Amino acid sequence: MNVIIFGPPGAGKGTQSKNITNDFNLVQLSTGDLFRKEINNKTELGKKIETLINSGKLVSDEIVNNLIEDIILNSSISNKFLFDGYPRTLPQVYTLDKILKGLGQKISIVISLNVDQQVIIKRINGRIICTKCFKIFNEYFNPPDSKDHLCKREFLEKRPDDSAKTIINRFQNYISKTKPILEYYKKKGSLCEIDGNKKIDEIYDRIKGILNNIRH
Ligand code: AMP
Repeated sequence: MNVIIFGPPGAGKGTQSKNITNDFNLVQLSTGDLFRKEINNKTELGKKIETLINSGKLVSDEIVNNLIEDIILNSSISNKFLFDGYPRTLPQVYTLDKILKGLGQKISIVISLNVDQQVIIKRINGRIICTKCFKIFNEYFNPPDSKDHLCKREFLEKRPDDSAKTIINRFQNYISKTKPILEYYKKKGSLCEIDGNKKIDEIYDRIKGILNNIRH
């Protein structure tokens, strides 16, 4: 099965993706993580997208789609993708469908995390990520723990795009460009919406129940 985890910025997509890949035989494909790696490694692509990302704008569909196509077509992984942060626009949705169709695959389910705006703001304010292993923590709800996080503390940072100013841009992009794609998956019958305001474990229990019922 191929799964999309969907939701506004700060909804907990990355956190739940880590839970899902621990229990299910899926491989997380997070475009945000891929871009942050490019930026950290100061690659040509990284230099091109750094300002865009740090100001909360979306990377162009052309760059995103080429990257995803390259990864999917050159991967030994088949029918096991967990897409996190992709697709984010309708052209990305159509491209993903086309790539998967060419491989005889499809999106089995889109799990959409519905989260209230106040909860999102709290989550983003407290979010810290490890720039080495990309694990996500929250200063308030899920502080880094030396038992399950072995990288040095110096790798823990706030994301540059988690600033109060940038989050407004990111949220506006979500409403105008990303949220409308839900309608597409709803029409296809592959959308499953869940309450993402709850605690991490409660949300994950619900996700587990949904994925356990999928057999393709
Ligand atoms: P994320 O980690 O998913 O919140 O992504 C961080 C940032 O990377 C976003 O705010 C965008 O600037 C960029 N980005 C990630 N995924 C995409 C995508 N599918 N399309 C366009 N931009 C993206």
